[in-house]
Amino acid sequence: MTKPPKHVLGISGGKDSAALAIYLRDKYPQLDILYYFCDTGKELDETYKLVESLQSYLGKPIKKLKAKAAKDLDKNPFDYYYEVYRGYLPNNIARWCTKTMKIQPFEDFVGEEKTISYVGIRGDEDREGYISKKSNIQSIFPFRRNIWSEEIIREVLADNKRDQIQEHYQGLGLNGGLNKISKIVSNPLDLQERNFEGNKRKIHEKLNKLLDLGVSEFNQVVFQQLKGSGYPIAFEEDYPLLYNDEVLVRKDIFRMLEESDVGVPEYYSKLEYEVDGEVGEYARSRSGCYFCFFQQKIEWVWLYEQHPDLFEQAIAYENEKEGFTWNQGEALVDLKHPNRIAQIKREHLERMNREDSIGSKYLVDKMVDAEKDCIACFS
Ligand code: SF4
Repeated sequence: MTKPPKHVLGISGGKDSAALAIYLRDKYPQLDILYYFCDTGKELDETYKLVESLQSYLGKPIKKLKAKAAKDLDKNPFDYYYEVYRGYLPNNIARWCTKTMKIQPFEDFVGEEKTISYVGIRGDEDREGYISKKSNIQSIFPFRRNIWSEEIIREVLADNKRDQIQEHYQGLGLNGGLNKISKIVSNPLDLQERNFEGNKRKIHEKLNKLLDLGVSEFNQVVFQQLKGSGYPIAFEEDYPLLYNDEVLVRKDIFRMLEESDVGVPEYYSKLEYEVDGEVGEYARSRSGCYFCFFQQKIEWVWLYEQHPDLFEQAIAYENEKEGFTWNQGEALVDLKHPNRIAQIKREHLERMNREDSIGSKYLVDKMVDAEKDCIACFS
């Protein structure tokens, strides 16, 4: 008998991956999931606390993965690679940090075994996140209506697969709706070379039409189609998530964390600040290294006021490298000036009031959306 795939879930220290672990443990206890956390050695204490309390809730260990070379030498992973890169600090263009401390340890952990990796992208997000390029690793997105990766959808909906997809739908013995489904399936996508955006839109339109007619049915068809392929899912006899049509969004994530004993990571708790006699609220929006260059200015202010020691350590890195700034051309030593802090708070408050008036205050989540493969650090 073929060996079934391994199931893994990466805990980033953020709310979504923690909630996903809770969700899968509670709803699909039959899945034997291995949990891991890639430690950069520069996370906030709140993150380490979350990992501990999640571990107690899951009743299973969360394996702490450290970049191998750093582990062998018993060094702090970030400082080890900082040395290897000869004092070249990471930034959003040269992002060696994610590659060496998140992705590589994950791929080493998985090895060559067929593996299903669960990713906590929510149903109200429109991004794919980091997808391992290794062919033995397949990502599944349980919080979304479409649980499959883009690569699989593209393959399953390809024009030359239309007859097979029709047959799989017929094989489900559906009483109604088959005509509608056949019409959608038989309609060719006619993808155009190099028209990436146009092609993506066409694929998503077709996908959504099929999902509208039955999420579970669509999943079963994909499952059938992938049988015999090299994808890890093809080595499962059956798969419980095929029959799940729940979509979980931001508020569900907070509810799950609050209702469990795990709780929302402390850095998400909104704290009040005052500027020009007005009161605003700030929090950190994400897990990851305390000096992460993806932070917004207001998050740097949060770090300065809530973890002054860490803020000073971030300054120390800047001081080691002439001209380097973590934060878009502004040195932290300038950012911490009282006038500058007041200005950042003022701008933040104005933006929040504006966003509030159009009903979208989670700027933070939108920013993460824009950062293509941040799932390894911030889900
Ligand atoms: S949290 Fe930021 S600094 Fe840390 S590894 Fe991820 S991208 Fe790099």
